[in-house]
Formats: sequence, C-alpha cells, structure tokens
Amino acid sequence: LTEHFLKRIAAHDERLNTLISRNEESARERAAAIDAGDNAGAALAGLPIAHKDIFCTRGVRTSCGSRMLDNFVAPYDATVVERLAGAGTVTLGKTNMDEFAMGSSNETSFYGSVRNPWNTDYVPGGSSGGSAAAVAAGLVPAATGSDTGGSIRQPAALCGVTGIKPTYGRVSRYGMIAFASSLDQGGCFARSAEDCAAVLQAMSGFDARDSTSVEREVPDYSAVLDSQGDDFLEGLKVGLPKEYFAEGLDDASRKVIEAAIAEFEARGAEIVEITLPHTDLAVSTYYVLAPAEASSNLARFDGVRYGYRCENPVDLEDLYTRSRGEGFGREVQRRIMVGAYVLSAGYYDAYYLKAQKTRRLIARDFSDAFENVDLIAAPVTQAPAFKLGEKLDDPVSMYLNDVYTLPASLAGLPGMSVPAGFVDGLPVGLQLLAPWFEESRLLGAAHAYQ
Ligand code: GLN
Repeated sequence: LTEHFLKRIAAHDERLNTLISRNEESARERAAAIDAGDNAGAALAGLPIAHKDIFCTRGVRTSCGSRMLDNFVAPYDATVVERLAGAGTVTLGKTNMDEFAMGSSNETSFYGSVRNPWNTDYVPGGSSGGSAAAVAAGLVPAATGSDTGGSIRQPAALCGVTGIKPTYGRVSRYGMIAFASSLDQGGCFARSAEDCAAVLQAMSGFDARDSTSVEREVPDYSAVLDSQGDDFLEGLKVGLPKEYFAEGLDDASRKVIEAAIAEFEARGAEIVEITLPHTDLAVSTYYVLAPAEASSNLARFDGVRYGYRCENPVDLEDLYTRSRGEGFGREVQRRIMVGAYVLSAGYYDAYYLKAQKTRRLIARDFSDAFENVDLIAAPVTQAPAFKLGEKLDDPVSMYLNDVYTLPASLAGLPGMSVPAGFVDGLPVGLQLLAPWFEESRLLGAAHAYQ
C-alpha cells in the first residue's frame, strides 16, 4: 500500500502541490516495521495517511503553511499524530494548507496553492485543501485536517471527498498549531463515511494535555455503521434550514442538494423545514472572534523563541517588527490587525463582546432546532470551486464564501461534508450537522446515503 501511494504521489503531486513535506524514506521504514509485526492487530495497521501541516510531527518540519515556520521541526508529536501512529498508520507526508489555516482557497500558503484535482484551474478550497485534494486524487486513502470555520467541510465539498469535523472537544488540540482556540477542531478526510469512521475513531477521545478536550466515551463508530447500515435513515427527522436555501445559493448547486435530499427521503427520512434565524450574523461574528483569538495566539511568533528571524536586527523592536513583517503573509497580517483592533480598549465592547453575544444567539438557534429534528442537511458552499486567483484580491468575497460553514463552528457542533454530485465537472457537497457528540449520527446517515 505504501509503495502504491508513494508512486501516486511521485506521479501527480508536482502538478497538484498537495504536500509540503514528503517522507518517503521514513514511510518505507515504518511500513517495513509493520510488515515485520509492529502494531500487529492495530485497527489501521499499515494504512498510509497524510497529516495537515498544522499538526506537529517530531523530526519532520511543521510549517503551518507559513514562512514563519518554514524551518520549524517540532520536538514532539501532536496527540492526533501520536494516536494515529499508535493505530498503525504510515505517514507519507504533510499536506499543504492556507497559512495558519486562514483562508478558504489554499492560496495564502507560503508554498503556493494546491490545485483542484477535478480541474487544475480551480481552487481545492481551504484551509485543509492539501488534505482534501490528496484524498480526491488518490494520493492517500485518508488525511487529517482542522476546521475552525469550515476548513474540513468546504475543501471536502469542493474536492468531492468525505470530511468530518467532530464536536469541539472530541479530538485533542494538543500539538495542533492554534489559530482560534475556541473554534479549532481536528478531523479527517477519506473517500467514504465508513473510512472516516475508522480514522476518526483512532483520533478521538479525552486528552489531559488539552484543557478543552472532553472526558466522554467515544462510541464505536464502525459498529454503528455495521449494525444499522442502509436502515439508518429510516424514521430520521432531517431539518432543512430555510436560511441556507435562500438567495445566494447557486441554482445548479441547489438542484444537486435537492436531489440528495430526495434520496434521504426515499430511504425513509422525514424532511422538514426549519429556521436558524441568526444565520446572517455568522460571518461578521466569526470574522471578529477568529481574528481576535488569532492575534493573541500568533503573538508567540516573535523571532526569538522559534521560527523565522530577520537578518541583522538593530534592536528588539526591529527584531519583532521585521521578523513578523517578513515571516507572516498578507492575510495573516490582516487578521492580526483586525484582531488587535477589536480587542483594543474602547472597541472591545462594541466588537468583541458583541460578537460573543451573537455567537450565543447562533448556538441557541441550533439547540432550538435540535429539539425538533435529529439532523440538519444543507449545502456546504453557495457554489462549486472558483478559479485560482478569482477572489484573492477581495477578502470580503472570500469571507462570505464561508456563510454555510461558520454557524456550526461557532456553536461547536459536529459537521460533515458528503459528495452529492457535480456541476460542470466540479463536485458539490452536502452538509450534515448533528447535536453535540452525535458524530455517529452523521456518519450513519452519510453511510446510508453513500
Ligand atoms: N475560511 C475560514 C477562515 O479563513 C475558515 C478557516 C478554517 O476553518 N481554518 O478563517
């Protein structure tokens, strides 16, 4: 398996740019060790995998898509990396991503954009675009990702693969470089819900090293799929939020989503319309809170402790200013500026505090909705992938692109993107959302549909 996928990478990654680092040699050694009996009987023994370059990997560079960390080799493994290795996976490389996971198109990466395997003139989505594209192109059978405001669901949708972002707190953030800590959540991509179930199983569970990790038993996801199989949708009540089907959703994508929902109905699901009335506040809420947290998290990159340091600083202030000015790209600098602004004295109440309150309203919308439905189904994006460069100079249009993924992130809910069809040869994803810690409901429904 390892040889097969290394060959695929060698043949196709020059063009797609899904990997920032490749580890052919250590992958071969590890595969040989597994052949010789290491991790015998482990759930994923011998499964090749790639990790988003946001997860720290001991001995292998962890760049987070940034010049700032171009030379950073972590002295430890992230919990996700450690657990997946413990389950027997073989790491083939680290995947490309938007710089510090800030973006929806992978174009902010210091290592250049990833290309969408379905049409290389188009973006793969972001920020976990490298992982999504690598799975879509068959360069790896599964990959990890992180989702702060949609970074697993959106690239999964645009690349036509299955992606799951679990409940906030389900997967440890230890060793996952922080962007917006109250939103960041690790998850994974694969070609099916069944494969996602196996990978997520190995990643999930309490970790004392992450204070927001939740101490709660992880169900056996694969067993749920096996026991209920195709009957999973029978009697399931599925809500369609009317705000997600309003103006803005492109017609062709709407048809694909409606056909997917008709399939749910044909398999016994009961479809009802619901309302999530504060949906229109999600973009502005997120783009206050995420930059605020980012400005604080990214303060650690000061040119002193680790990462990029400018040449010949004349004094400390010059060292800070030039290291950060040269090490961070434009989008990251923009977020830091916005974040510092909304947190500053005099503006805090008007922006940051207000956004915390609207976040609560958005979360309450979902709690109310889940009183009446088991699952929510919606589009992931308003349209299929856009062209490389198309939105790069227009941050607002890039941000608006996240309108259907941000609300669930703000509420900490688990979400999934499931391939639903194509528009002009480009994939369209169906988004599924469930109440907190109901990942098995998402996986079960997606599996029955697939
Ligand atoms: N596109 C969103 C942003 O730019 C979400 C990114 C993410 O989930 N990491 O912040």
